[in-house]
Amino acid sequence: MSDQEFNPVAGHPVHLADGLRLILAPNPSPMTYQGTNTYLLGHKSIAVIDPGPDNDEHLAAIHAAAGDGDISYIIVTHAHLDHSPLARRLSTQTGAPIYGYGPAVAGRSAIMQRLAGQGLAGGGEGIDVDFGPDVVIASGDCVITDEWTLEALHTPGHIGNHLCLIWGDTVFTGDHVMGWASSLVSPPDGDLTDFMSSCEKLARIDARIYFPGHGAPVTNPKERIAWLIAHRRRRETQILGTLTSVGQTVDQITLAVYKDVSPVLIPAAKRNVFAHLVDLQQRGQITAHPDLQSDAVFTAKN
Ligand SMILES: [Zn+2]
Repeated sequence: MSDQEFNPVAGHPVHLADGLRLILAPNPSPMTYQGTNTYLLGHKSIAVIDPGPDNDEHLAAIHAAAGDGDISYIIVTHAHLDHSPLARRLSTQTGAPIYGYGPAVAGRSAIMQRLAGQGLAGGGEGIDVDFGPDVVIASGDCVITDEWTLEALHTPGHIGNHLCLIWGDTVFTGDHVMGWASSLVSPPDGDLTDFMSSCEKLARIDARIYFPGHGAPVTNPKERIAWLIAHRRRRETQILGTLTSVGQTVDQITLAVYKDVSPVLIPAAKRNVFAHLVDLQQRGQITAHPDLQSDAVFTAKN
């Protein structure tokens, strides 16, 4: 199914597979595409994966879709405001515990902890700072019922506390891999070094289909993840190509690389460029003067 053919109506459950339904949340935007995909796994003992934004209609739609089944688990891929906030009210109403990797800053890399400590602020990506799971799960941890088993895979990069969830030959990929867009990686919550290794980690899982946090199911997971890795490497090559011995700022590099991008997307592009520069500096390929900061001057090494 392509993203053009995927047109769920918010609040109306879509049958995806035996025991799996999707309910689209009513929060479309340029960052969320048609809205957040909330998944209901199971009929008797239901896991709600990514309850979505704190929204009354969406909450009612989840309860209606559950019908006679019990919502017994709430599992959150990551602490962004379009994925996690409704977990708390849903948990209070159903008694179901919330599963997740940890609060929003859990899983943050050492370099991003340092940059955040030095005052690097996020780009307004909508972090759910109040998120806290009742049950902490990490890679290899499983949630097992008579009907289904989910295995967690920690995939930091989009944000440090991001989990993918493996269900047989299917993976719920959250915002790590989607079909309609490459993921946002914005420091200090986003980390490109982690993002790339999470892509490699996910590529080693032999999956038939991905169910992402936004947009249509990804029916060619191997090709999609290979494209995503190649896309990031192409971007890295472009960035390295702009670096002269004189030194370049994030603004200069962004304007050189994103020549045809609408001005409204330039702030996000700058954050993306900085994510690449941090990764390149950490890998010893470039130098930052006077220090690694978003306002530093970057030069190629050699
Ligand atoms: Zn997200």
